[in-house]
Amino acid sequence: MHPQTLTILGATGTIGVNTLAVVALHPERFRIFALSGANQIDKLAEQCRQFQPRYAVVLTAAKASELQTRLAGTATEVLYGIEALEQIAAAPEVDSVMAAIVGAAGLRPALAAARAGKRILLANKETLVMAGAFFMHAVRDGGASLLPIDSEHNAIFQSMPDAYDGDLKGHGVRRILLTASGGPFRSRAVTTLATVTPEEAVAHPNWVMGKKISVDSATMMTKGLEVIEARWLFNASPDQIEVVIHPQSIIHSMVEYQDGSVIAQLSNPDMRTPIAHALAFPERVECGVPWLDLAKIGTLTFENPDPARFPCLNLAFDALRAGGAAPAILNAANEVAVAAFLAHQLPYLGIAATLRSTLDDIGSRPAHSLDDLFAADQDARRIASARIAKQTA
Ligand code: NAD
Ligand code: MG
Repeated sequence: MHPQTLTILGATGTIGVNTLAVVALHPERFRIFALSGANQIDKLAEQCRQFQPRYAVVLTAAKASELQTRLAGTATEVLYGIEALEQIAAAPEVDSVMAAIVGAAGLRPALAAARAGKRILLANKETLVMAGAFFMHAVRDGGASLLPIDSEHNAIFQSMPDAYDGDLKGHGVRRILLTASGGPFRSRAVTTLATVTPEEAVAHPNWVMGKKISVDSATMMTKGLEVIEARWLFNASPDQIEVVIHPQSIIHSMVEYQDGSVIAQLSNPDMRTPIAHALAFPERVECGVPWLDLAKIGTLTFENPDPARFPCLNLAFDALRAGGAAPAILNAANEVAVAAFLAHQLPYLGIAATLRSTLDDIGSRPAHSLDDLFAADQDARRIASARIAKQTA
């Protein structure tokens, strides 16, 4: 068997590390072509020594020379910058690209992989949130294929008919049911949310994740971004996507059919399962996740999300319905607001307030090109930052 050649964008992050953990279990199946990371040079150097990629990519010349020194005597060549990320995503030697950079920075390399016709394992949800229509066009035009890594979308993918071609009605699908854990504040008194600290917000009950996405999970912005992601991945309208809170995080999402059937994917909440699914697709491989012990879990419960507790969820539906640049604006304002919250510069409730006011200001812009989206992203960052500075001055 020809081993699958893999580039991992964002190798040093949570998804990157889990991807390498699965790869390490199957050395005969996968070969690492390139790894990228932003700041964690120690970790990236260690990964390069273990997996011996042809290339390692970092963001700056200074980091590159630091890493190259650490990798003296190895065959790994160190590159830096956005063009290098695009290069390792599109290189002819590469079969599959794990797109696991966090935030808007992941868009350009993911697009490069799409245009080059790669098999894309997509973790970076911001790519679809910011530029869903453009990205899906690039995937089609480039002859690329997409395998969702986000656990909910991976579950939906697994619960869809095999021949699903983007026509929900044609396949008898009624709705997509996106599950959400409800995060750490699901049952905390709404009146106490004003005093939430970053430390409380990043302590997620079921998943171990990066800080930014952990805060998004507390506000349920994650689910909002995932609704937008599902809209593009599965060509579903906003009305065909419903969010249901399922605190145990065992059912990762469901597809409801016209005959009343609901198909779900279940597993322990561990990203190695969706990662292994996408890496090996259409085969199945072991990935080190413990078998699901349903008797031990005992109870699976469900509830509707409370809009007063989770205003970000409806803001995401609003942005999706508004279309154009609104989702990109929402995403950019959210990145700024979450960073300010993590830096103790914005109170917890200020996150939703910042998103709402930024959307009110510039949310109804059309997007005729990617440049329009990048411009909207920049404007949203500027406006959100100015609002935060004004609030805290
Ligand atoms: P993380 O913060 O742990 O890792 C992010 C990675 O991106 C790191 O390798 C970092 O070095 C790199 N990076 C950061 N800024 C960069 C920049 N400006 N340019 C280039 N590289 C940069 O994040 P994560 O939790 O691994 O999540 C990665 C992506 O996967 C996100 O889009 C997230 O929404 C998505 N995702 C994560 C999970 C999860 O459980 N962690 C689940 C579903 C989806
Ligand atoms: Mg998810």
